[in-house]
Amino acid sequence: MRVAALAGGTGAAKLLRGLAAALDASALTVVVNTGDDAEVWGLRVSPDLDSVMYALAGVLDTGRGWGRADETFRCLSAMAVYGAPTWFTLGDRDLATHLVRTRALRDGQSLSAITAQLCRTLGVAARLLPMSDDAVRTTIRTPEGRLGFQEYFVRDKCQAEVVGIDYDGADRARPAPGVVEAIREADLVVVCPSNPVTSVGPIIAVRAIADALAAARAPVVGVSPIVGGAAVSGPAGALMRARGLPVSPVGIAHAYAPWLQTLLVARDDAACAPELAALGVRAVPTDVMMPDAERERALARAVLDAARARLPLQ
Ligand code: GDP
Repeated sequence: MRVAALAGGTGAAKLLRGLAAALDASALTVVVNTGDDAEVWGLRVSPDLDSVMYALAGVLDTGRGWGRADETFRCLSAMAVYGAPTWFTLGDRDLATHLVRTRALRDGQSLSAITAQLCRTLGVAARLLPMSDDAVRTTIRTPEGRLGFQEYFVRDKCQAEVVGIDYDGADRARPAPGVVEAIREADLVVVCPSNPVTSVGPIIAVRAIADALAAARAPVVGVSPIVGGAAVSGPAGALMRARGLPVSPVGIAHAYAPWLQTLLVARDDAACAPELAALGVRAVPTDVMMPDAERERALARAVLDAARARLPLQ
């Protein structure tokens, strides 16, 4: 079974680890958000690509949900002495990834090419594709002005009032090589439990990707990142409200209309099934929390089962 997955960072990393264990990982293509990429100390940082890559390589710090395990922060301390901004915490091992990526980009390589090379080196069997090799930057509009996503999320800890979200560059961005083909040729398209506004939002803001999803012949199955009226982690709730979306699986279905067909939701959210059905989305109540590897695999199996339409209509 060939699987194409749309992914952000932390929530996606967990489900993808489960999928890579449940499937032949080489049959898995992951289309990853690059809207929250940033420049830190002159280096190109791709937080979601790195979280997914580290997770699939088995080197992610699972406690934090980002960065590398067994990490030290000596460079960060030295940068603080020089008065450099240190709100974006870069570990020493993690820095190696950003150094290699930045040098490759400066040498004229594409982000997809250097991502493939990093994945090969780290032994990732799945294919990781940035959504685009062109720059798309998620920007948060606040009453005081516009903030880069990492300024809003990491530096200001999501304190700012959000009045809107822009995906700068998305209207000109082309999908990275292989993205449209992966969606077109997949037997299953998975939308990982990721922030619908700032992780999946930038991916589907690339017109040709949204078109490919709308035309996909494979079932499209998502996992809700919203459980019991709130995001499991991160600012998805506030950002969905700013977009006028209800903070519930119904808001997720609205965000992914008209191409989402099935959504795995928490058992406690099963009552939203009729509202989802009205949007053309079949609700599959199940355990959508992934606190450990066993439940990551169980949820991945539930996604595959839902795709095979083994579960009764809810
Ligand atoms: P951000 O942290 O909001 O920038 O977004 P990411 O897309 O990188 O990942 C966080 C998303 O994953 C949030 O919307 C969470 O609600 C979701 N998430 C994290 N852990 C889990 C989990 O165990 N289960 C589910 N269903 N969602 C999760």
